[in-house]
Amino acid sequence: MQAAAGPVERLSVAAALAKVPRLRPGYLAAALYDPNVHDIDVAALLQGFLRQGKALGVRVYTGERCSAPEWHADRWQLQLTAEALSAPVLVNAAGAWADELAIACGAAPLIDAPAGVAVDAWPAVFDVDEQFYFKPDAMRLLVSPAEEEPRTPGDVYADDLMVATGIERIESALDIEVGRVGPSWAGLRTFAPDRNPVIGFDTRTPGLFWCAGQGGYGIQSAPACAQLAAALARGEPVPPMIAAEGVTAEGVSPARFSARAAT
Ligand SMILES: Cc1cc2nc3c(=O)[nH]c(=O)nc-3n(C[C@H](O)[C@H](O)[C@H](O)COP(=O)(O)OP(=O)(O)OC[C@H]3O[C@@H](n4cnc5c(N)ncnc54)[C@H](O)[C@@H]3O)c2cc1C
Repeated sequence: MQAAAGPVERLSVAAALAKVPRLRPGYLAAALYDPNVHDIDVAALLQGFLRQGKALGVRVYTGERCSAPEWHADRWQLQLTAEALSAPVLVNAAGAWADELAIACGAAPLIDAPAGVAVDAWPAVFDVDEQFYFKPDAMRLLVSPAEEEPRTPGDVYADDLMVATGIERIESALDIEVGRVGPSWAGLRTFAPDRNPVIGFDTRTPGLFWCAGQGGYGIQSAPACAQLAAALARGEPVPPMIAAEGVTAEGVSPARFSARAAT
């Protein structure tokens, strides 16, 4: 078995319990271990992307909302507060708002919407159905119920029911009693119907390029997705390093949904 950065090991239940001694033995049927999982400093990563982009001449506008782009003379026209912009290709990378932006461009939407336990040496643990994950974080456990409650894009917060669901899921797998929950937060993830990213030109609206639907992996997949999006937006083939992973332009294209709708 192979992950992107090397082989994944099949662990016996005893070997998994040696790594995370508080896993309930009856809960585990099998385990896989990837020794190449690392934390990403997301803020530093994004600042790095920003520095690279600016060095290449990218201009960044913040606090601006391109609510109604217009297609004139084979170009998208955007009116910002103090400046008008125009370009032949508009990349829709609006995350959870990707459908809203597509609609504003006249396109159809695509996306459906423990005390006394030393945890620091534990690996990050994901259950096979992605019902939860947990990982050590500064002497405590960071727990996610990985919920997928459909939401209208906007500010979101971790409600009490979701926090309780997270506790229930974690207590069913781990022999610990969650006494106190520290800070909690929520965020938005976007999924296409087949749960693969959507990267490519819209099939009906000219010059509208999608880069959305990264689900729960938009940070770690960002360098590859951005490289792929840049190549496809320029009409170039899938970069060889990405093609070697089995990714095809058709597999990520928004056209796959129109083809299915037509059949
Ligand atoms: C709890 C949680 C845990 C996660 N864990 C991981 C993880 O471990 N690993 C991982 O890789 N990923 C993880 N993700 C997923 C990751 O955060 C997303 O896939 C990623 O943020 C998507 O990036 P994006 O740039 O496409 O969208 P976003 O980060 O949503 O950015 C879109 C931006 O577009 C802006 N925007 C929207 N509409 C407009 C408009 N009309 N005009 C101008 N701007 C607009 C928004 O304000 C926003 O800033 C997690 C997500 C959540 C919620």
